[in-house]
This record gives sequence, C-alpha cells and structure tokens, in this order.
Amino acid sequence: MNKKYRKAIIAGNWKMNLLPSEVKSFAEELRHLLPKTKTCEVVLCAPYTHIPNLRRSLKDSRIYVGAQDLSLHDKGAFTGEISAAMLDDLSVHYVIVGHSERRQYHGETDFSVGDKAVAVLENGMSPIICVGESLEQRERGLTMEYVRYQTLAALSKIPDDKLRHCVIAYEPIWAIGTGKTASAQQAQEVCECIRRIIRERRGARLARSISILYGGSMSGKNALELLSMPDIDGGLIGGASLKPADFAQIIDAVAQVTGE
Ligand code: PEP
Repeated sequence: MNKKYRKAIIAGNWKMNLLPSEVKSFAEELRHLLPKTKTCEVVLCAPYTHIPNLRRSLKDSRIYVGAQDLSLHDKGAFTGEISAAMLDDLSVHYVIVGHSERRQYHGETDFSVGDKAVAVLENGMSPIICVGESLEQRERGLTMEYVRYQTLAALSKIPDDKLRHCVIAYEPIWAIGTGKTASAQQAQEVCECIRRIIRERRGARLARSISILYGGSMSGKNALELLSMPDIDGGLIGGASLKPADFAQIIDAVAQVTGE
C-alpha cells in the first residue's frame, strides 16, 4: 500500500527519565541536530512534569510534545491522575495509550486502552495505541491472533471520523528495552496484519491513511531497514530517544526512505 497517504512519525518515549531542568538543553541539542525533513512528524512523549518546559523549549520548532498516559476520567476525585483536557490545555498533540509497561505494571486492559484512546480523540489530540505480543505468545505462534484482538478492542469505540487521527504502534514486548529488535520482515508482517484488520473492518480508505509505527530497540543502526518496509510508517523509540544524536539518526533514516 502506498505510503504517500499517511504521515511518517518518529516518536520518542522518554519513560521516567531526565529531569525537568534537563529538558531545555536536550531540546536545544535536538533542534540543532534535526535533519531537514518536511515529511516526518517528530514527537517527544515526556513525563507530565516536563511538559511545560519542553513546550517552551520547542517553541517555533517542528517537534510536537506528547504524553505517556492519561486518566480514563474527565475530572473529579481521582488523586494523582491527569486528564485529557489538562494535557490538551498544555498543547500536547499525542498521547501514548496502552504501552506494555502500563499494561504490565498498572493493570491497563484492552478495554481501558480503548476508552483512553476515545478520551484523547475527544480532546482533539491523537492517541498512539500500543499493541504487541510477549515472547511466549510469539513462540507459541499466537502473535497475529493476539495483536488482532488487541487492535480490535482498542479501536472498537472509535468512530470512523476519529479513526484517521489514531496512530498504532506495534511493539513486541520481547524487543522493548532488550536490545533485541524484530527483524524487518517480522515487524512488516505484523504491521501489514494490523492494516489488513483495519481494512476489513473499517474500509480501505481508513486503512491506507493510518500511520503504523514499529517500536522495540529501534536505533540509528536498524532504523533504515525497518522504515523501508511498506507498512512501517515510523517508530516509537524508548532508549534511543534519550540521546539527541541517536534520535536524530533515526529521523534521518526517514528522510533517506522518503528521498528528501
Ligand atoms: C518503548 O518503550 O516504547 C520502546 C520501544 O523502548 P526501546 O526503544 O528502548 O526498546
């Protein structure tokens, strides 16, 4: 399917790293190194505490600010939670939902992921919805079945007019933070399957316009091969997004693929 119908996106997931006071110098370094690609959308998903500083440091740049999670609830007595409206008020554009670390350590379910994606969309932002199998599921040949289930559950409450603002990230759990990357063929096979599911359920036009990212130890070394695959439109990057030079190298790989 033709990549010209969708956005290339490179999104960094800082997880619980860096300090608010370190954000300014990081942003300055990244802005300096940023390759001159017009077609790639660059996003930094920061801890909540870093967002105002990051927003200020990225003013007038082409880099969008993202968050890593949000509350299911709109407002009220939910101590410690952050709502979609609060993130929107800070000019956040993207919110990661259903990251495997949230599923594993914070009881996130396929259905709460779907409800969170709806909350993000209703507040005018885009969810980056994470799906992906464990090593055991891959070894038992259950990858496609499991990813199909996760994708359908996450998208089930999203109407067609909002679906085009969603981004899906295929992140095999066994490749996250482990230094083991899915091969370009393995990643393509699952990303193609996700697009096929969307095509079957929601039609070809939506399927061809949704960006599907790969995440799992993506680096400057393997990015070009992964991003050259027909159904991989970008990356969700953990470790390598913490070093401006490594992150810029991945963005440069998109520029090479698109021939900029
Ligand atoms: C992630 O946590 O989303 C991720 C892909 O991490 P890493 O790049 O470090 O594997």
